[in-house]
Amino acid sequence: MNATDITAGRGLEALRTAIAGQVFVPGEDGYDQARQAWNLAVDQRPAVVVEAGSAADVAQAVRYARGHGIRIAPQGTGHGAGPLEPLDGAMLLRTTRMRRVSIDPAARTARAEAGAVWQDVTVPAAQHGLAALAGSSPTVGVTGYTLGGGLGWLARRYGLAASSVTAAELVTPDGDLVRADADHEPDLFWAVRGGGGIGVVTALEMRLYPVGELYAGDLFFPIQRAAEVLHAWRAWTDTVPDEVSSQGRLVRLPPAPQLPEPLRGRAFVKVEAAYLGDAGTGAELARPLRRLGPELDTFATIPPPALGQLHMDPDQPVPFHGAGPFLSDFPAAAIDALVGLAGPDTGTLLASVEVGHLGGALARPAPGGGAQPSIDANYLLTAVGAMPAPDLAAAVRAQTRAVKDALGPWHAGYDYYNFAETPAPASAVLPPASYRRLQEIKAAYDPGQVIISAHPAWPARP
Ligand SMILES: Cc1cc2nc3c(=O)[nH]c(=O)nc-3n(C[C@H](O)[C@H](O)[C@H](O)COP(=O)(O)OP(=O)(O)OC[C@H]3O[C@@H](n4cnc5c(N)ncnc54)[C@H](O)[C@@H]3O)c2cc1C
Repeated sequence: MNATDITAGRGLEALRTAIAGQVFVPGEDGYDQARQAWNLAVDQRPAVVVEAGSAADVAQAVRYARGHGIRIAPQGTGHGAGPLEPLDGAMLLRTTRMRRVSIDPAARTARAEAGAVWQDVTVPAAQHGLAALAGSSPTVGVTGYTLGGGLGWLARRYGLAASSVTAAELVTPDGDLVRADADHEPDLFWAVRGGGGIGVVTALEMRLYPVGELYAGDLFFPIQRAAEVLHAWRAWTDTVPDEVSSQGRLVRLPPAPQLPEPLRGRAFVKVEAAYLGDAGTGAELARPLRRLGPELDTFATIPPPALGQLHMDPDQPVPFHGAGPFLSDFPAAAIDALVGLAGPDTGTLLASVEVGHLGGALARPAPGGGAQPSIDANYLLTAVGAMPAPDLAAAVRAQTRAVKDALGPWHAGYDYYNFAETPAPASAVLPPASYRRLQEIKAAYDPGQVIISAHPAWPARP
């Protein structure tokens, strides 16, 4: 039995009977829907798709794949499908149905099954006055985001989401369901915290944080003011406490009817920021930027789940490509290079070119941290373009590359795991020491590269 037999539906009866979830092969009703990633630019055509309904299903699927010599690509939403190698001949193991979340308000922790998306956690956590370390989008998967580090709106205060993971339940490439935490499976526990993981995660446990007040919002300025606003924002980032996380951003909004009329189809330079504290102090902190006279100012006291609206990410699947190198600094020359490529009158196809402010807790090694214990960079560049028509793909890719290259002199050495949308090994998205340890762990747990991951690590040679 091999991938060809499986694609033809031969020998799958045992798997279909053994699991509560569903199995699809090419040509069957449901296959096309089950293989579809959130990133619509990615056309994944696996030999078989398994939609697991439980951790036991995941273990069955992994054992089945092992027994039949096929590789396994774990996936939740497919937001991060861009960098994956082609899945021909492989099993796409989707955890989409596994979305149960429980909150322990006394312990200030959450347990999220592998298919949960961030709004599944942030909304119930907020009912207890707690916040999770979610990112910009409520629909991004908790697991993929966290395995790649996880940079969110509270990152300068509380660090990467990966550093707040307290335990992972996962199925090893051999098909064993194990728990990895500070006392068990130390290598697997280390690898899930920013190294992309080893095996198939079935649930994560993580710390939550009490949030008294949260003052956050966007300042919109016409794109013609790109240089002035980005220079002012950059200077402002030197002055703010760790409780402030922010981005300076050049954004082209689509003419979408769901956008407020004054924003529809327009280009802006924006500052987006969140302050963990009261509105009075927040307004004082924001004053230097407000003095610039934004066209629109949305700052207000908000509950933590509303952070998911700040960045205005699309809530439905879209075709896109992006890049995300860490920057050691973002000085005046870098700002001018960015504005020259994506500012006013450039005709860029990129929907968003943004720079996030790092530092704070991100710069301090998390106690007992994992594969991304800290970030040795002060800013993160992100360039993203939508590709609504296939003939735009090459131009969007070239412009993304050009923006990344233009800031080459300030690259910090590696890219951010979660924003590297081009196929690249884990060595391109992790500190060198982390990559070497990941290779050792891979050699011990998955020497045959059974698991296909977003940014693979090649097993260390004996
Ligand atoms: C609109 C948008 C907004 C975003 N905002 C942010 C942000 O603010 N901060 C940030 O850090 N990132 C952000 N990202 C990037 C995002 O974190 C990555 O794309 C991440 O990989 C998405 O995780 P997922 O589970 O949704 O995606 P998936 O494509 O399902 O998973 C991505 C990868 O994670 C691994 N993986 C997923 N599930 C499992 C599992 N159960 N077991 C083992 N491995 C698994 C696999 O390697 C998989 O290929 C954003 C992406 C988008 C599209």
